[in-house]
Amino acid sequence: MKLYSGSLYWDKTVDTPYRFEKVKEGKRTQVLIAGGGISGTLCANVLSALGMDVILAEKNKIGIGSSLASTGLLQYRSDKMLCEFADDIGEERGRLFYRMCLEAMDQLTLLNQSLGGKTEYRSIDSLYYASEKKDVEKLVREYALLRKYDFPVEFLNEEQLKRIYQIHKPCALRTWHDADVNPYRLIQSLTRKNIEQGVRYYENTELDLDNIKGNMILTKEGHPIQFENLILTTGYSKIYPIIKDKIIIRRTYAFCSKPMKDDLWKDDVMVWETKNPYLYFRTTMDHRIIGGGLDEDQKELEQDGEKIMAKAKRIAGQIEAIFPNFGIQIDAAWNALFYGSKDGIPFIGKDPDQGNRYYLLGYEGNGMCYSMAGAMILKDDILGKPNLYKDIVRLDRGI
Ligand SMILES: Cc1cc2nc3c(=O)[nH]c(=O)nc-3n(C[C@H](O)[C@H](O)[C@H](O)COP(=O)(O)OP(=O)(O)OC[C@H]3O[C@@H](n4cnc5c(N)ncnc54)[C@H](O)[C@@H]3O)c2cc1C
Repeated sequence: MKLYSGSLYWDKTVDTPYRFEKVKEGKRTQVLIAGGGISGTLCANVLSALGMDVILAEKNKIGIGSSLASTGLLQYRSDKMLCEFADDIGEERGRLFYRMCLEAMDQLTLLNQSLGGKTEYRSIDSLYYASEKKDVEKLVREYALLRKYDFPVEFLNEEQLKRIYQIHKPCALRTWHDADVNPYRLIQSLTRKNIEQGVRYYENTELDLDNIKGNMILTKEGHPIQFENLILTTGYSKIYPIIKDKIIIRRTYAFCSKPMKDDLWKDDVMVWETKNPYLYFRTTMDHRIIGGGLDEDQKELEQDGEKIMAKAKRIAGQIEAIFPNFGIQIDAAWNALFYGSKDGIPFIGKDPDQGNRYYLLGYEGNGMCYSMAGAMILKDDILGKPNLYKDIVRLDRGI
């Protein structure tokens, strides 16, 4: 299944990615992870750090699933506001969900510090502006709720937004503990660390997910892998029966510009907005702009390169409506499938019927933050420890 089309950017930033052999004979492991995107990579990291014996099997190559299409904004605030969660699932559960994400962001930042600086990870603030006057009231409510629970947030009125950031919008929330990253480099650096921690990697090894027998799974080439625990981090490649009626599939667009002037806007903040679908954009360390948006209710990829480029230019035009005269030149433009959940919460946890099978499906906008949160939840699950957040994200919750 193709997850994206067009021309991507992050793969061009790594000359010699890690490569691994396929599984050629039967294997045995304590933890088997299916999928080598950011979710599988983070799970492998967290579990191998505890001394667990881990095999990660990837049907293709490490890090080239949806993680390669990601625009690399890492934020604790989700696409759904805390005040919206409060209305839908109650204030306390909403607070816990946001707290889970904030903790995950801090864990990501800490983890990155142990990776040796090649990930282009930058702790950077986010600016979430009201697209229209009518959204101000909601942002005021969101701000009050975030402040009530001590989340890192500041309210900027129209004048402050204009003066500090030269953005002409009615108001904005500024948040911190956020970051941006080169997701492919992050996966590569984590892979190096994981190998040091003893993780056994296999590429070109597709696991037959429809044919799991107790503690054994076959590769598509027929080699058995015995496991004590199986973690499914297969991204959008497979829709499991347990969540099939709970998801939303969209198509989304993104682009990366050619390098631009070095001082694009104040503090290189990541910018996004209240409108739906929303525009979002960030910079890179070599002064490119990466932007995304124009989500469509489509389950198929756009294959026509000219149409993809036209969408990229539209997104660039939206950015230039905010920061005129940038003259953005597009280097790479892509579209991708993008899965969400009907309640705005990812699917993480134990299979209710199969005690040693776990899912980490970080559906929704800040999927990479959910990957980190999920790795911590599954670690506790496997160790049989309590976890404050696991009930909120469990797969069999009512939606
Ligand atoms: C355009 C776009 C922009 C995005 N921007 C952001 C962003 O700014 N910030 C953010 O946090 N998130 C963002 N996301 C979401 C984020 O990219 C995803 O949440 C994240 O990459 C999912 O990682 P994953 O490891 O779960 O999936 P993937 O990266 O897709 O990895 C899953 C892997 O499983 C493998 N696999 C599947 N089936 C099998 C099998 N049977 N056997 C073995 N291996 C298998 C696949 O080959 C794949 O490599 C964006 C997504 C898109 C599409």
